[in-house]
Parts: sequence; C-alpha cells; structure tokens
Amino acid sequence: MPAVKLYGRPGSPEAHAIRDFLYRSDVPFEWIEHEKDTPVCVFSDGTRLENPTIRQIVEKLGWFRDPSRSEYDVAIYGAGPAGLSAAVYAASEGLKTIVVERWAVGGQAASSPKIENYLGFPQGISGAELADRAREQATRFGAEILLARESVRGEFTAGKRTGILSDGTKVVSRSAICATGVEYHKLAVEGEERFRGAGLYYGAGASEAELCVNDDVVIVGGGNSAAQAATQFARFARRVTMVVRGESLKETISAYLVDRIASTKNIEVLTHSEVTKLHGEKCLEAVTITHCRTGETRTIKTHWLFVCIGGAPHTEWAAEAGLVRDEAGYLVTGPDLVLEGRARNGWPLDRAPYYLETNVPGVFAAGDVRHGSVKRCASAVGEGAMAVTFVHRYLSHG
Ligand SMILES: Cc1cc2nc3c(=O)[nH]c(=O)nc-3n(C[C@H](O)[C@H](O)[C@H](O)COP(=O)(O)OP(=O)(O)OC[C@H]3O[C@@H](n4cnc5c(N)ncnc54)[C@H](O)[C@@H]3O)c2cc1C
Repeated sequence: MPAVKLYGRPGSPEAHAIRDFLYRSDVPFEWIEHEKDTPVCVFSDGTRLENPTIRQIVEKLGWFRDPSRSEYDVAIYGAGPAGLSAAVYAASEGLKTIVVERWAVGGQAASSPKIENYLGFPQGISGAELADRAREQATRFGAEILLARESVRGEFTAGKRTGILSDGTKVVSRSAICATGVEYHKLAVEGEERFRGAGLYYGAGASEAELCVNDDVVIVGGGNSAAQAATQFARFARRVTMVVRGESLKETISAYLVDRIASTKNIEVLTHSEVTKLHGEKCLEAVTITHCRTGETRTIKTHWLFVCIGGAPHTEWAAEAGLVRDEAGYLVTGPDLVLEGRARNGWPLDRAPYYLETNVPGVFAAGDVRHGSVKRCASAVGEGAMAVTFVHRYLSHG
C-alpha cells in the first residue's frame, strides 16, 4: 500500500522534485501520470495536496520539526553518509545530537541505484535503502534530524557554534560537524536551467530509471557514477549513450564496470565528445553531441539526459564564517592546516588542530566537503565516525 499517490505530468520539474524526494526518503509511493502541469499528492488518509512544497510533504509525513533543545553537544550539517554516520556514533555515545539536512537523507549516495563496493553488502545496496537504514539507526539512538532545512550561515563565539537556517531558526551547539558534501557540476550549455527536472537531471537518476522503458537515454560523464547509471538504465531503456570527454572509460572507472559496459549490447560509449546543445519547448526533446576533435555533430532524440560529471563543495558560508578553504572551496582540516602554515591563521589554541578539525576549534569537517577526502561512501562513513571521537576530545579537553 503506497503512503503517497503522486499524480504528475512526465517532464514536469515540480513532479520530478517530489518523486526524487520520496524516492530518496524511501517513502512507498505510486506514480500516476496525469495531464495537468502541477503535481498532486494524495496521502493514505485521503489528504490531497495540490502542487505541494517539499516542506509541506515533510510536514504531512510528520517529519517536520524544530530543534527541541536550546543547545546540543554536537550539530551535524548534512545527512549524507558522513553526516548520518556521525549522527549514529554521536547519539549512540550519549551526545545530544542534531542533524540539519536541506533536502532528504542520503546525499549523493541516495542517488546511486546500487552501491556495490560498500563493505558487508556483496550483492550491492541501493543508496536510498542504505540512507534510510542509517536514518532509522541514528533516530533510534536519539539523534534529531531536521529535514528540508538548509543552513545558510554560521556564527562561532566562545564555546558556542550557532547554525542559522534559511527560515531564521537557530541551532546552538558546543561543537559542529560540517558534512555538506559536494554539489553536481553543471554542463554549462544554454537552456540547462530551463530543462532541469524537465528532461535534464543531475546524478544517476535512480528515481527515474523505471520511467525510461523503451526510451533513449543519454548520460554525460566517464566516472563510476556515470557508469553505474548506464548499467542501471540499460535494463529499462531501448538505448543508452554515454558521452565521455576522455579517450576511454578505462582510465576513470572500476574494472568491473568497464567489463559490464562492454558486454551490455544497448550501451554505446562516445569518447572525445560533449553535449553542446539542448532542444525542446517545455521538455527536453533532443541533444546535440559534438566530437571534440573533428567537430562532427550528431543529434539524438531523447527526453532523458543525466549529468554525472562530479561536483564541487558549496562552502561560501564557511568562508564568511572564517573557515579556511582550499582553492576549490574544500574545507582544510588538521594536519593540512598545520602543513600549509594555515593554522596560524587565527588558530587560538596551544595544541595543534585535531585531525578533522577546521581552523575554528570545535568545528570539524567530514566526508566529501573536506580537502583531501577520498570521495567514497565508506570513507565518508569512516570520517563521520572519526569526527565524533574528536568531538569528545574537544568537549572534554578543549
Ligand atoms: C550517482 C553516484 C553514485 C555513487 N556511487 C558510489 C559507489 O558505488 N561507491 C562509493 O563508495 N561511492 C559512490 N559515490 C560517492 C559517494 O556517494 C560520496 O562519496 C558520498 O555520498 C559522500 O558523502 P558525504 O556525506 O560526504 O556527502 P554527500 O553525500 O554529498 O551529502 C551531503 C549532504 O549535505 C546536504 N547539504 C549540503 N549543503 C547543506 C546545507 N547548507 N544545509 C543542510 N544540508 C546541506 C546535502 O543535501 C546532502 O544530503 C557515488 C556518488 C554519486 C553521485
């Protein structure tokens, strides 16, 4: 029995946003196509919401909340693998813990249809399921999770770390862990914003795969996430075209995925190529692909373009709050601060910064947002757990 019936027009960005949120949050839902431009959600108690915001859906599911305490031991920003892991360890070790997530739990991992290299899951596990299990584990230990709430500013005063959310809510804590990951790179092609959610999607589009039956799908990118997406879509789509800038896939993806792609008949790999034009009125209808060396172009009719070309952290708020970042915006921590002589940059204590500590004592970074991180689920989970160890040290010894 679905918890939600979602009526939407194929290619509607609003319907896509809701479907993506429900999928990532592991809420059982039924997708029903309708002609109207605006989506409608019907909940199991009969409540009907026309064109709801994600916040309204979160409220209806009973998940919307404000911080219940005036102060926490640790506030964690971001509920991807790093943030969820930090939440599980912090709450299970008795710390008063709050997690602030601007969208749904799971981060980038929740957009992965199947994570096959995560320890303990030999058959692989969908990112959404992994995230939902972690959410349950963290809340069972008492962590509070605020969903659909974005932190936009940080203020650090003596012993207090205050996160200010976009609606003005303040989250006060004695220590903080920034686990806000990265955001997808854009294609930088004209019309990109117009087609976002209306045929153009970022990430592997795990929530869309089953809707692509007998269609042509185009995936941009030559990394593991693009390759995973290709093998997943190939199960449903008529044809999958991978558009790769480099010379081959071999340099950029795991050997098992190279073999899988080579042996899947309906996947075509176009190397030295990039998407240069998007066509369509309301929804994406075709893409033009240009060969980078010969300039030769080819136009493919498609309603499905998935962009999997990695990402960069959005940490402007951190710079405003005085945190040291590297040239690309990643947060610099521990030994890297010391090595590069940056700890002197306002570091107020006699001791060296702890391993995952930023240049503000008691503020830590974990996972993909951190300078030098490995960009894998397992390492993000490891860093989340490790950050909690340093939080304990900071709270006990300063
Ligand atoms: C399609 C895809 C497939 C992948 N497959 C694999 C795989 O098979 N194996 C593997 O090991 N790795 C895989 N990865 C990489 C892996 O998912 C990432 O390394 C991992 O998710 C990083 O975790 P994180 O918690 O550091 O950051 P993220 O997963 O990026 O999570 C960050 C979270 O912070 C939230 N956030 C950001 N800003 C704010 C803010 N201001 N306020 C509140 N919340 C905020 C975001 O919404 C997000 O939920 C894949 C990545 C992608 C995109």
